[in-house]
Amino acid sequence: MDSLLIGPATRKQAVFAGTFASLVLLTFVIAGPRAHQTLPAITSFMPMCALTVFTMSGIAAFLLGARFAVTQQPMIGALGGAYAFTAITVALQLLMFPGIFTRTGLFGAGAYSAAWMWVFWHAGFPLLVIVAALIRDRFPGKSIELPHIDFWTWALIGVPTALAVALGVLAVYADLSAPFHMAPETGVLSGGRTAVVICSLDVLAIVVVLIKGRLRTVLDLWITIALLASFVDATLNLLSIVQFTLGWYVARVFSMLAPGVLVCVLVWEVTVLYRKLSEAHTTLLHTSIRDALTRVYNRSYFDDQFRREFERATRNRQPLSLVMVDVDNFKDYNDAFGHLRGDACLRVIADALAGTARRPGDFVARYGGEEFALVLPDTGLSEASAIAEQARLAVMDLRLTAPIPAGQITISAGCATTIDPNTLGTPSALVHAADAALYDAKRAGRNRVQSVTSLP
Ligand code: GH3
Ligand code: MG
Ligand code: MG
Repeated sequence: MDSLLIGPATRKQAVFAGTFASLVLLTFVIAGPRAHQTLPAITSFMPMCALTVFTMSGIAAFLLGARFAVTQQPMIGALGGAYAFTAITVALQLLMFPGIFTRTGLFGAGAYSAAWMWVFWHAGFPLLVIVAALIRDRFPGKSIELPHIDFWTWALIGVPTALAVALGVLAVYADLSAPFHMAPETGVLSGGRTAVVICSLDVLAIVVVLIKGRLRTVLDLWITIALLASFVDATLNLLSIVQFTLGWYVARVFSMLAPGVLVCVLVWEVTVLYRKLSEAHTTLLHTSIRDALTRVYNRSYFDDQFRREFERATRNRQPLSLVMVDVDNFKDYNDAFGHLRGDACLRVIADALAGTARRPGDFVARYGGEEFALVLPDTGLSEASAIAEQARLAVMDLRLTAPIPAGQITISAGCATTIDPNTLGTPSALVHAADAALYDAKRAGRNRVQSVTSLP
């Protein structure tokens, strides 16, 4: 089943994504000018958000990695890598953040280690998305061959993960100066050059994704929105680096949105695929038990179900009747009108037979060629014989004219029943008995119903 992620987006999906993107931008326009406004301090907000970003990115990386293993599309694996990178950098930022686990941060973090992890996270994500978009161009419509898929899954997810860890080591040991700029005269902290670089990378990533994908697929739409959220997150953060300001709070919400939208889309895809799979399974089940020409049950269903009904009848000591039906002189019909009209004739005969086996548990199957079987649970011989007679009349009512002695299509039927619970015999004995009755009917001149009363 094709991946919906890399399938073309419907108009409805495009409109939904467009509305979502507009809301992101609207929030940005409203929050941007008020970014410095101080709000009440919620100290748990930052660790809570970081944990959410870590969890969401981890799930997105896992789902994209798994999807890559199935679709074998390198771009999906590379996007999984971008989210794996995000998960590790945000986790390291949280661990190194002063005052969360220890006063100065874990791993002997310096004063700027957490700030640098934030920079790596926000610069690395758009960069890795650009790599993914370029990979798509490098291998247009190609997929990685199966023997290598495990290696590539580990490589595409593992390399960005290792890169994030390496940057963590760098942030702790490389004695880096502050990534942000403090105005000497006012003491106000601002994004400075770092802000320009990060925001430009987000814009560049959006442009590359738009050029390479032109918003054709569902993945294109939502990865663009993830980048937009990332851009708003970075811009607001850099407009207002100070904690507990409006810009700082809104930026954190958007940092959760970047992996959050992807996780939602991936889960949505799984749900839709599950529904399609279940529908396909139902259709397959239906077609596998039906005869392709006549749409009544096929021989393999008859063999299974007839045996089951036989066992049930034996257990419950109830009668089970079988009516074998054969179309009279059908060869002559075919010879006169050709096989295509013969096929059409078999279809209407099957419909007529199905119309006579109406009780729950009754069923009609095509036994083979122009022979049909009516299985009638909990039905005695006289009742079965009456149903067979109804079937014969129903076929006569079709008035299918034919160059045969009767002048029209007719059927012969043989009925047999498991009457005496002590001498039930076997399913095949019942089939032989009904067959024998059918040939009695043929011998007696066709277009009639014949019954046997005891099993041979
Ligand atoms: P009888 O009354 O003794 O049953 O005569 P008959 O001509 O029906 O019997 P015979 O067994 O000689 O021929 C059966 C014919 O049924 C031959 C075959 O071409 C036709 N038949 C079997 N299956 C199909 C089918 O799927 N489509 C068509 N058009 N004909 C079929
Ligand atoms: Mg026959
Ligand atoms: Mg026949």
